[in-house]
Amino acid sequence: MNIYVLVKRTFDTEEKIVLNGGAIQEDGAEFIINPYDEYAIEEAIQVRDAQGGEVTVVTIGGEDAEKQLRTALAMGADKAVLINTEDDVEDLDQYSVAHILAEYLKDKDADLILGGNVAIDGGSGQVGPRLAELLGINYVTTITNLEIDSDTVKIVRDVEGDSEVIETSLPLLVTAQQGLNEPRYPSLPGIMKAKKKPLEELELDDLDIDEDDVEAKTETVEIFLPAEKEAGRVLQGELKDQVKELVQLLHTEAKVI
Ligand SMILES: Cc1cc2nc3c(=O)[nH]c(=O)nc-3n(C[C@H](O)[C@H](O)[C@H](O)COP(=O)(O)OP(=O)(O)OC[C@H]3O[C@@H](n4cnc5c(N)ncnc54)[C@H](O)[C@@H]3O)c2cc1C
Repeated sequence: MNIYVLVKRTFDTEEKIVLNGGAIQEDGAEFIINPYDEYAIEEAIQVRDAQGGEVTVVTIGGEDAEKQLRTALAMGADKAVLINTEDDVEDLDQYSVAHILAEYLKDKDADLILGGNVAIDGGSGQVGPRLAELLGINYVTTITNLEIDSDTVKIVRDVEGDSEVIETSLPLLVTAQQGLNEPRYPSLPGIMKAKKKPLEELELDDLDIDEDDVEAKTETVEIFLPAEKEAGRVLQGELKDQVKELVQLLHTEAKVI
């Protein structure tokens, strides 16, 4: 089975986001594999171990994304590909990312492509479905279970907390939802082995892509944090006086009664 996993480098969810000039400041921030992509990597490894074949992880990004690819290799992926766009294009959007991935994957005879259901930073959930459309293959989003029996695939997908059971066939693209599996931590031997596993670096030229063909179709014009919550007020004094004051405040300040 020829398996590909789409991996995105994202901010650590524990990070405090700092905005500077309408952009998220990256200096000093920790970066991780998009958590939904970890489910995709784990599932790919399990399918390979059960059915044979090879798992290749692919990311579009800069040199820095090598670290996340090495982590995926340490988890158990066989090969990694970094499509480095740093020198070619400044702004990418979902259109660009899906088109670059499609150009890379179009002649790879992938049986199964797995991605995250959403990236925790950009959060559009568009890349997987767009890519499948471009490749002309079946796709199912937000999956929580995957069973492959020859060419037939039985999937359970999450629908806002309910489950939907779907049957489809390979070649297929799926996007992973929380609950699909329990992603493993890279083991020490895994980390050592990952250093020797192949990590190929490609540029747009290697894919015969003209920069103009993957130019972003959308532009993010503003990013802002939610308004800070005001500190709560602690009332003092006798309980009956506090109740009176609370009612007064709800009436005159909060204006909810
Ligand atoms: C070099 C670079 C420059 C960028 N410049 C800009 C910019 O100027 N303005 C702006 O708004 N955005 C920019 N982006 C972000 C870019 O728009 C998003 O990465 C892309 O559109 C994905 O959208 P999303 O985060 O909504 O992903 P979603 O569609 O939510 O992601 C779903 C899944 O798709 C896959 N996926 C997503 N992104 C990638 C990727 N890069 N490589 C491999 N798999 C992926 C993963 O499996 C992920 O879980 C840039 C990204 C890069 C790498």
